[in-house]
Amino acid sequence: MQIKCSSCATPYALGKEQIAQMAELFRSTPGAHYDAHCPKCRKTTKISKKQFALNPLYKKMLEN
Ligand SMILES: [Zn+2]
Repeated sequence: MQIKCSSCATPYALGKEQIAQMAELFRSTPGAHYDAHCPKCRKTTKISKKQFALNPLYKKMLEN
């Protein structure tokens, strides 16, 4: 999953493990936000369930 840092605008990717963590988080707490950490400035970028579900593959992970 490609995201862009909300602080320094650096684009970076989240790995499979983080995707799995996100799917778990949104399944148990739909209103929660996942904190992704920027590799450059270390600041967090919040990812909502809505944003996550924009990708059909990830959306499926929420349904299972
Ligand atoms: Zn950053």
